[in-house]
Amino acid sequence: MEKYLLEMQNVGLIYQTKTGETEALKDLNLKIKQGEFVAIVGPSGCGKTTILSIVSGILPATSGKVFIGGEDIAQNKKYVGYMFQKDQLFEWRSIWNNVMLGLEINKQKTEENMQYANGLIERYGLSDFANKKPRELSGGMRQRVALIRTLVLSPEILLLDEPFSALDFQTRLNVCDDVATIIKREKKTAILVTHDISEAISMADKVVVLTKRPATIKKVFQINLKGDTPLKRRENPSFSKLFNEIWKELQYE
Ligand code: ADP
Ligand code: MG
Repeated sequence: MEKYLLEMQNVGLIYQTKTGETEALKDLNLKIKQGEFVAIVGPSGCGKTTILSIVSGILPATSGKVFIGGEDIAQNKKYVGYMFQKDQLFEWRSIWNNVMLGLEINKQKTEENMQYANGLIERYGLSDFANKKPRELSGGMRQRVALIRTLVLSPEILLLDEPFSALDFQTRLNVCDDVATIIKREKKTAILVTHDISEAISMADKVVVLTKRPATIKKVFQINLKGDTPLKRRENPSFSKLFNEIWKELQYE
C-alpha cells in the first residue's frame, strides 16, 4: 500500500458562531505524498484557508480523520510551516535575526540549525543582506526571507496561503519562480492555496479544484509539464490547455 505524508479522510468542518453555523468543508479527501507540491484552487470563501488551518493543527476537524506520516494529527509532533500573504518580517530586526526568530521561539537555535540557515541565505542570494533591515529589501526578497525563516525549522509540510497576492504582477512571476525552485531543491512537501490558476499550474505537481462552500474536492489535475521552473512551464504549449480545463471547472462553481 502506498504511503502518504498527509491523508485527509472525509473531513468536515463546521464553524460555530454566535449567529449560527457555517459549514466550511464537507467530505474532503486528500492524499499527499512526500515531496509532492499540491496547489488548491477554489472560489473565494469556499474553505481553502480552513483546510490549511486543519493541516497546521490549529483547527481540529469537526468530522473525519487527518493523518500526518501515518499518525493522527492530534498526536503529530512534527512541525508544519506556514507562509502567509504578508511576509510578517519584523522591521526592527535584521534579516539574519528575522531568520533566527522561529529557532529562538522554538528553542532550537543550535549550531547545526544556524549553519543550515546560513547555507540557505547563501544559496538563495541573501548573504549581502543578512545585516540589513527588511525595509531595505524588495518585496520579492522579503518573501524569500520569510520562506527561509520557515525552512530553517525543517517543516514536514509547508503551507502557503496565497503568499504572492500582495506583490505586483512582474515581481509575482519572479518570486513564484524563486519559491518553487527553493521548495523543489530543498525537497519539501508543500500545499499552495491560490485563486490564480496560472500560478497553480506553473508551480504544482497536482492541482486540486474545490467546489464552492462547503468545499469538497471537485477534480484533481495531474500536472506533467516536465520538471521545469514555473517561468518555463508557462511557455509550455500544454499550459493554456490545462488553464482552460481548470478554468471551466471553476466557472461552473
Ligand atoms: P477561503 O480561504 O477559501 O477564502 P475560508 O476557509 O477562509 O475560505 O472560509 C470558508 C468559510 O468559512 C467562509 O464562509 C468564512 O466566512 C467562514 N469562516 C472562516 N473562518 C471562520 C471563523 N473563524 N468563524 C466563522 N466562520 C469562519
Ligand atoms: Mg483564504
